[in-house]
Amino acid sequence: MNDAMTAVPEDWGTALALVAHPDDLEYGGSLAVAKWTAAGKHVVEVLATRGEAGIDSMDPEEVAAVRTEEQIAAARAVGVETVEFLGFPDGVLEYGLPLRRAVAGAIRRHRPDVVLSVNFRETFAGGGFNMADHRAFGLAVLDGVRDAANRWVFRDLDLDPWPGVRFVLFGGSPEARHHVDVTGHLEAGVASLEAHRVYFANLGQDFDPRAFLTGMCEPAGAAAGVELAVPFELIEM
Ligand SMILES: [Zn+2]
Repeated sequence: MNDAMTAVPEDWGTALALVAHPDDLEYGGSLAVAKWTAAGKHVVEVLATRGEAGIDSMDPEEVAAVRTEEQIAAARAVGVETVEFLGFPDGVLEYGLPLRRAVAGAIRRHRPDVVLSVNFRETFAGGGFNMADHRAFGLAVLDGVRDAANRWVFRDLDLDPWPGVRFVLFGGSPEARHHVDVTGHLEAGVASLEAHRVYFANLGQDFDPRAFLTGMCEPAGAAAGVELAVPFELIEM
C-alpha cells in the first residue's frame, strides 16, 4: 500500500466473495462488505472449504460444523445472507480443473459485477510465506472468472456464461495499490472477525481483532487520505 492509493470503483450492484477458508474474508475484506451491503449492494459469500483442518486440538468433523456456523455469523455481521460451501478439503487445495470448474459454476450462478478474494501471491502483505490453499485458490478464482465467461468451457455445468465480472479484488496482498474507504464500518468488521470465537480460542496465542483491524485500516487510511481504509490488489478482467 505504498504508491498512490487509488479508490476501488463502487459503481456496481453485486459482489461475490470467493475464499478458501472461514475467516479469510474477515481480516479486512468484511469491512468493505459491510460498507457495500449498507449501501444496498448485494453480496454473497462462497467458500472452497469449511476450514476443518484449522484447529490442531479438535477433530476435523467437529471443526467443520463449528467453523461453518462461525462463518455464517461473520457474514450476518456484515449484512450477507447467503453463504455457500463448495466442499473442497481444507489444507490440501490443488490448483486445477475441479477448482476452476467450481469457481466458474459459482460465478455463473451468482452473476457478480465484482469478485472479492484473498491474497494469492507468494508472500503476505506484512511478509511471511503465504499458505498453499490461498495461492492455489486465488489463481483458480482468476482463471474461473475467465472460464465463466466462455460458453465453450465447462459446458457440463449447464449454466449460461457470465462475462460480467469487471475486476477481482484481493485482500492482504503485497501488491495492493487500491483501497476502499471503510470509515464508519469498523464495528461491523470487528464483529465479523470476532465471530470466529472457537477458532481464536484454540489458536494457542492471543489475538485482538480490533487491534489487528485498526492496525491495518489506520495506516491505509492515512495513505488514502481518509480515516480508515482497507487495501486491495485490483486485477481488471
Ligand atoms: Zn485462509
